[in-house]
Formats: sequence, structure tokens, C-alpha cells
Amino acid sequence: MILDRFSLKGRAAIVTGAGRGIGQGLALGLAEAGADLFLVSKSDSVEATKALVEKLGRRVVTLQADLADMASVPRVVEGALAAYGKIDILVNNAGIQRRAPVIEFSEKDWDEVLQVDQKVPFFLAQAAARDMMKRKKGKIVNIASVICFSGGLRIPAYAAAKGGMRQYTMSMAVEWAAHGINVNAIAPGYIATDMNTALIEDKARFEDLSSRIPAGRWGSPDDLKGAAVYLASDASDYCHGTMLVVDGGWTSR
Ligand code: NAP
Repeated sequence: MILDRFSLKGRAAIVTGAGRGIGQGLALGLAEAGADLFLVSKSDSVEATKALVEKLGRRVVTLQADLADMASVPRVVEGALAAYGKIDILVNNAGIQRRAPVIEFSEKDWDEVLQVDQKVPFFLAQAAARDMMKRKKGKIVNIASVICFSGGLRIPAYAAAKGGMRQYTMSMAVEWAAHGINVNAIAPGYIATDMNTALIEDKARFEDLSSRIPAGRWGSPDDLKGAAVYLASDASDYCHGTMLVVDGGWTSR
């Protein structure tokens, strides 16, 4: 039955950046659908999410790791394998933002954003896929952005990172579909999280952005749960390399 195909019961899922914001919402969504979780964040914020997941009756293991460091890649994957013996789902969600005009944008900010938002998620997917290939089954969900379709304003490194993520989502999908692995991305629109504090506090900019969202409101992490569960579940078995846009209609405008 179709609803059974959305169930994640017995699946082991890694969610990065699960301590706050969208990552916390996605972790809860996957847990509500039945998944056991391996949650990663830079700080101990992930412990708060752990407590919420435990209330849902799911198994949950946490890891504090700096995903700006490539050494975190084997720590994440080996940690999840030690906890569950397999990786069914990887949600590459952790991300950072740096805002500055293009003319002033620093090399340091460029490197930091590209590292966390583009390079490390690529190698996490590669490492997780090595386990998924053994079982000929796996789901990789990259959290990209509607900024894949535009340049944004004063966020050139983020635009480059997420645009690149969109491209390699398709590269991975093409190569790994034959191995039973689905690689897809979600493109959230404007979601009210800590990442957007600067935009939310800039009254004029907030009103300008809000007025251009057809749904008439910013999104919340809850709004992304359905897309994540779909792309993590058997319901999306024939879906490879897609960008599922969840943006209140922003990009259609
Ligand atoms: P957020 O509220 O700032 O949360 C970011 C999460 O990523 C936190 O849990 C943070 O860990 C973790 N993180 C950041 N740098 C890390 C690092 N070096 N190592 C490990 N963990 C790290 O951001 P968000 O808005 O939820 O964004 C989540 C994802 O959605 C990002 O990839 C973002 O680009 C994407 N996105 C967001 C929006 C939006 O409007 N908010 C729109 C499109 C796409 P700590 O809690 O430990 O600091």
C-alpha cells in the first residue's frame, strides 16, 4: 500500500546540522516516519534534538564534529556504522552563510562556505555510498537552496556552493542509480532559522522578501519534513537527481 512505502521503520539515517533549524525539523520528520538517527552538529545543540527524538521512541546517537574538517567524514560514517551496522539514508543538511558584497568578499569566507556547504557534503555522500553500494540500496538527500536558481544578494560563496551541490547531485544520481542509490536534493526557499537572522532583523529587506513569497509567509523547518521523508523512503525509488523545491512558490514567480 502506498503509505507503507513512505515508512522509514528500521532505517538508519544520518542527519548533519541536526541541532537547530531545518536539520532539527528533518531529523524529527524522519523519526516520526520510523527512522533511527545518527545526528551530527558542531556544538552540543544536537543533544536537544536527541531528547526530542527519544520522545518519539526512536534510537538516536549523536556526534559533535566540525564539518569544516575533512577528518570529520570518516568519523561520521564510521560512527553511524558502529551504531547501526548500515547507512540507509544520508541527509546532507549542515551549512553556513557568509554575507558581504561581491567586491569585498574575502577569501577566508569563500573557503569556509565552500568547505562546509559543498566539499564536505560531497565526500560524506561518497563515503556513505560505499556502504550503500554493498547493499544495493540507499538514499542521499542534499539540502541545496532556491539560490541554485539565482545569484542571491551579497552571498556569492553560498550561491557557488549550492549551485555546485545541485550539479553534483545529478552527477551522483547518474552514476549511482544502477547501484540502487537515489541521490536527490531539496531546495528550500526562505525558512525562518538562525541562518536568516540578519535578513529577518533587516525590516525593509524582510518585508521585500516576504512580499514576494506567493504563499504569503516564510517557511518553517516543519514545511520540509514531507519532502525529506519522501526522498528518504521507498516512495521515491524511481526519483534520481531531482531538485524538490519547497519554497512557498518563490521560484515560480
Ligand atoms: P542554521 O539554523 O544556521 O543551522 C545550521 C546547522 O548546521 C546547525 O545545527 C549547525 O551546528 C550545523 N553546522 C554549521 N556549521 C557546521 C560545521 N562546521 N560542522 C558541523 N555542523 C555545522 O541553518 P538552517 O537554516 O537550518 O540551514 C540548514 C541547511 O538548509 C543549510 O544547508 C542551509 O544552507 C540550507 N538552507 C536554508 C535556508 C533557510 O532559509 N534557512 C534556505 C535554503 C537552504 P550547531 O547547531 O552545532 O552550530
